[in-house]
Amino acid sequence: MFDILVTGGAGYIGSHTCVALLEAGFSVVIADDLSNSKFEAVSRIRSITGNKVTFYPYDITDEIELERIFTRHAIRCVVHFAGKKAVGESVEMPLEYYRTNLLSTISLSRVMKRHGVKNIVFSSSATVYGNSKKVPYSEKSPTGNCTNPYAWTKWMNEQILSDVVRSDPDWSVVILRYFNPVGAHTSGKIGEDPLGLPNNLFPYLTQVAVGKLEQLPIYGSDYPTKDGTGIRDYIHVMDLAEGHVSAVRKCLRDFGVQIYNLGSGKGHSVFEVIHAFEEATARKIPYVICPRREGDVSASYASTKKAAEELHWKSRRTLADMCTDAWRWQESNPQGYC
Ligand code: NAD
Ligand code: UDP
Repeated sequence: MFDILVTGGAGYIGSHTCVALLEAGFSVVIADDLSNSKFEAVSRIRSITGNKVTFYPYDITDEIELERIFTRHAIRCVVHFAGKKAVGESVEMPLEYYRTNLLSTISLSRVMKRHGVKNIVFSSSATVYGNSKKVPYSEKSPTGNCTNPYAWTKWMNEQILSDVVRSDPDWSVVILRYFNPVGAHTSGKIGEDPLGLPNNLFPYLTQVAVGKLEQLPIYGSDYPTKDGTGIRDYIHVMDLAEGHVSAVRKCLRDFGVQIYNLGSGKGHSVFEVIHAFEEATARKIPYVICPRREGDVSASYASTKKAAEELHWKSRRTLADMCTDAWRWQESNPQGYC
């Protein structure tokens, strides 16, 4: 029996992916320094799945701590989520972002190499498509031209891992470019728990609905889209989690670098999301139109063809499911994990 190491497994996407991996029969070890998450998420993964998950509260930029994990466990594959992810913060603290997001991948890959572990699934982002205008984005769309340090760290990590494969073709690297993960596990036990004021649309929306925030700012109603608001590809976090199960299987089977978009392939405007949320939850969402947010593109959505053909994976859940599940999590955990 071998283990899958999930770095950042106590975080939003990591916790849902651990549930999906455990339910698919994999054995999971989590390494997370809890810098942006709480141990309670790990307890809830255990309670949803009834599975024992080993947890290490380690900083994965530290090779000595990683060594302990690789010495104790027969790791066959790593799913690497750990890192910093706030775009605005990355503009204010670029060195912290480059340090954590690059050093984590470098330390991890060095320790993996020492232990002969050559399979890794990496969390990248649609943000690597930068301000390239032509949607839908396919994996062959141009990357680079990134608009902030966070996005550059994703782009550079893709390069680092591709170079590792070039140096040793026995490695298997699966790079997943996520679009906009939202929603929560249907149990309402795990979900997104941002620190402070949410940056993203869904957590802001649910915090307005629960009465923690007064009104939703809509960043721009003058985009060249159907109703003037920005269009994004929202994907249910459990669909995304199941995409990782397919990616791990692919990673264990193949060699080389494979890159996949994980999105729904559908674009929804901010107004469409608000209306879907109001319908799914029977709550009214007060909003105010604000100027555009710097760095935002008008529309971003995925071509999902490659993931469907090669990972045999497609998102199944609807925008209504995303709203219902995000709301169930928020309503049953108004203060998040505490
Ligand atoms: P998250 O912040 O909820 O999870 C990341 C986890 O990594 C946290 O639990 C944090 O404590 C941990 N971590 C951070 N630095 C660490 C370190 N040095 N050592 C050990 N653990 C560390 O974020 P998320 O939304 O679950 O995102 C997971 C991954 O997916 C990230 O790499 C993120 O950049 C990427 N991603 C997220 C989105 C999104 O919209 N949420 C979109 C595209 C890509
Ligand atoms: N958005 C908004 N109000 C908010 C947060 C986001 O109008 O409080 C808009 C944003 O301009 C974009 C869409 O909602 O058009 C999705 O934004 P999010 O930050 O969730 O994702 P990203 O822009 O990073 O893809």
